[in-house]
Amino acid sequence: MITLNDFYQGFRDPQTIRHLAQLIAQEAAKTDDQINIMEVCGGHTHTIMKYGLLQLLPDNIKFIHGPGCPVCVMPKERIDHAATLASQADTILVTLGDMIRVPGSMGSLAQFRAKGCDIRPIYDPLDTLTIARDNPDKTVIFFAIGFETSAPMTAALLAQAEALKIDNLLFHINHVLVPPAIDAVMSDSRSKVNAFIGPAHVSVISGAKIYQSTVDQYQTPVVVSGFEPVDVMESILRIVTQKVAGKAELDNQYSRSVSYEGNLAAQQLVDKYFMVRDSFRWRGLGPIANSALTLRPEYHHRDAERIYVKVLPTTEIDDHKACMCGDILRGLANPKDCKVFGRGCSPQTPLGSCMVSSEGACNAYYRYGEVSHAN
Ligand code: SF4
Ligand code: SF4
Repeated sequence: MITLNDFYQGFRDPQTIRHLAQLIAQEAAKTDDQINIMEVCGGHTHTIMKYGLLQLLPDNIKFIHGPGCPVCVMPKERIDHAATLASQADTILVTLGDMIRVPGSMGSLAQFRAKGCDIRPIYDPLDTLTIARDNPDKTVIFFAIGFETSAPMTAALLAQAEALKIDNLLFHINHVLVPPAIDAVMSDSRSKVNAFIGPAHVSVISGAKIYQSTVDQYQTPVVVSGFEPVDVMESILRIVTQKVAGKAELDNQYSRSVSYEGNLAAQQLVDKYFMVRDSFRWRGLGPIANSALTLRPEYHHRDAERIYVKVLPTTEIDDHKACMCGDILRGLANPKDCKVFGRGCSPQTPLGSCMVSSEGACNAYYRYGEVSHAN
């Protein structure tokens, strides 16, 4: 019987990885230029660290970690919003995965839960429907996070709530968009990035087309890549080949899942319920115009941000003084540059979001150890 593990084996084959490393070294030897590759997505960071890919690459290739993890980029005041909503009488706050452990300025959602607030982490947004149905006398608030990848799931949840007339379900929308974040990174005069590995999951939904403007505007190659080590190595080879040839093109290594146009049905679903928000403050990157989604006016009756506007805190709160998450998210620093890395800040006692999130760069460095020539 073929198992899922069998499917992955080819993409983790050490011989193939070594062969790709040789090809990369041959190609990279043709240029004296430094090639600084930003892997936008935390999933790629983890593949690079977990499989020790950096150690296989020549010295003129460096990685710069990017702002591609939705938990890491959430500013503290939005977490404070979640804690405030959870503290209201007769509310249940529902959210995904690691979000519950990220510290806001008033504490983490886990701490609020310990104080008695009804906060429920889930893996599938549609579970929120069951919670709302089972608790008709409570207001259930879905604290929605994620990039283009997860916005369709929130839209599907909203569609179901509307169709089934589940009126006690509200939404606090924190969906963010990748291309404006790339723009923010590249428009910083200190940026050293000159090529990108494009996020995989985001691209399944949005299509590779969303990076065309990055390629054109900044003359940087973008290669959309799968998450397995062979995927990442092949994507690096494609980037180096482009750089040596003096090209800057959009390329799609992950064609087994990503098309140029993406999933049009999912895009339509998102368009039906969401519109682009004028501005959203990103942790570390600050406010970025048109970089997030909000509910369309037709769905304001579901918008917890509007319904609870009088109680939600408005103060913008920066990170702990010692924390360098901001510079890490901008690609200007490495986790090991942070003085409290592994001392005051660890996955058990995180000071910043890049240590909390399982996709965080600091978390990856802590888990998989030091790497000699990351940025
Ligand atoms: S080690 Fe901790 S405090 Fe330092 S940048 Fe990373 S998450 Fe922030
Ligand atoms: S630095 Fe933090 S936000 Fe950025 S990809 Fe890495 S993990 Fe995610």
